[in-house]
Amino acid sequence: MIAEKGHVNHTSGNRSDTEIREIIEKEIARQRNNLILIASENFTSQEVIRTMGSVLTNKYAEGYPGFRYYAGCENMDSVEDIARNRAMELFGSNYSNVQPHSGVNANMAVFLAVLKCGDRVLSMSLRDGGHLSHGHKQNLSGKYFDIHTYSVNPETEQLDYDEIKKIARVVKPHLIIAGASSYSRIIDYSRFREIADETGAYLMADTAHIAGLMVTGYHPNSVKVADFTTATTHKTIRGPRGGLIIADKKYAGIIDRAVFPGVQGGPLMHIIAAKAVAFREALQDSFKDYARRIIENSKALCDYMKDQGFRIVSGGTDNHLFLIDLTTKSMTGFEAVGILTSVGIIINKNVIPFDKLDPTITSGIRIGTPAVTTQGMGKAEMHKIGECITGALKNRDKPAILKEIAAKVKKLANEFPVYENFEV
Ligand code: PLP
Repeated sequence: MIAEKGHVNHTSGNRSDTEIREIIEKEIARQRNNLILIASENFTSQEVIRTMGSVLTNKYAEGYPGFRYYAGCENMDSVEDIARNRAMELFGSNYSNVQPHSGVNANMAVFLAVLKCGDRVLSMSLRDGGHLSHGHKQNLSGKYFDIHTYSVNPETEQLDYDEIKKIARVVKPHLIIAGASSYSRIIDYSRFREIADETGAYLMADTAHIAGLMVTGYHPNSVKVADFTTATTHKTIRGPRGGLIIADKKYAGIIDRAVFPGVQGGPLMHIIAAKAVAFREALQDSFKDYARRIIENSKALCDYMKDQGFRIVSGGTDNHLFLIDLTTKSMTGFEAVGILTSVGIIINKNVIPFDKLDPTITSGIRIGTPAVTTQGMGKAEMHKIGECITGALKNRDKPAILKEIAAKVKKLANEFPVYENFEV
C-alpha cells in the first residue's frame, strides 16, 4: 500500500499496484499455459526469484568486496564473495566477476579491458549465428572496433577452423570471439586458441547460451583455453537475468576495473545474490542430470522434425538448440512464429546461414529445450511437441485443426506445471 502523505508503506506486504500485479499474473499464466521453446529462456527457481525481490536492491555497493565506495557494505561483501566463489567453483577458475548486469555488459567490459578504439576484432558473422554484441553496426562493438567476421562452411554449415585461421592470418585481430547465439554444434575452443596464438590475439569465449552445458561437462570448457569467458546467468545456467566474466586471476585487475568503473556503476546486489543461489543450484548433481536431459530433448525433437521432412541446419544438434530451414516449405520464419504462437508454441524466427531474407523475416526458426526440460519433460513429450509443431505448420490455413492443436499444447504444458502456489 502507498500510505498517506506519500510515504511508502514498508510494514505491509500488501500490493497496491493492481495494474502491474495483474500483468504479472497474466505473465505467470502465459508461462504456464504455453510451451516455451525459445532457446535463450528458462524458468528460474522460486528461490532465485525471491532473492531478486529482496532488500538487497536497496544497497549501493560500488567497488568490490573489501573496497567499497559506500559505508554499510558488510553484507554486500559477504554476498558477492559467496557469488564469486561459487562461480569459480562452477566454472573451474581462479577468478570471476559477477557484477555485469547482462551478457552484453560482460562482453563490453572485456572489450574495454583489452581493446582500443579501432582495434580489429574477428567474430562470427551475425547472419550466420553470431551475436549483436560481437559487431553489429549499431552496437557499441560495431561502432568502435574494426569488425571482421568468419562464417560457417556452406556445405556443412559448421565452423571451418582452417578457414577461420586463413581469415585471422590476413586480419591479424587483436581479439577473436568464439561464441554464438544460434549455433547448434560443439565449439572447439582449442582450435580457436591455436588460431589466436598464431596471430597474437586475445581469445574471448562468449558462452552466453551454453554455459550450463559447459559447466556440467556436456560441452568443452573454455575456461582454461580462452583468455576470457563471458556468460549470461539466465539461459542454461537457469539463474537471474545477468552476466559474468571468468578468467585467469592475472586478468583480475583489468577486468574488475573495466566492469566498474569502466562500463557500470553500482552493482545489482539483489541480482548478485540470486546469481549465488543459482550457482549453488547448478553445483548440485541434479543440475548435471538437467543439462544432460536438455541435450537429449533437443536431439529428440530435432530428429522428430527431421523425420517429418524439415531441413535442419548443419543436419542436427549437439546442444540445447537447433535451427530449421523453412525455405522449401513456402513459409518464412516470421510466418511460422505467427502460426506457432497462435497454438501456444513460443519459438523465435532466426536467420539461417547465408539467409537471403532480412533478419526481421528470416528463412528459419530456432528451437531450444532448456525451459521445457526444466518443467520435467522428456523424450515422449518432445515427440508430442514435434507433432504439434508439424501439425500447426502443415495446417496453417485450417482454424479447426489449429484450435485442436492449441488445446493439446495447453494440456501438455499444464501437465508439467511451473510456479505452482507462487504468490505474486
Ligand atoms: N552473447 C550471446 C552469444 C548471446 O546469445 C546473448 C543473448 O542472447 C548475449 C551475449 C547477450 O546477453 P544479454 O541479453 O544478457 O545482454
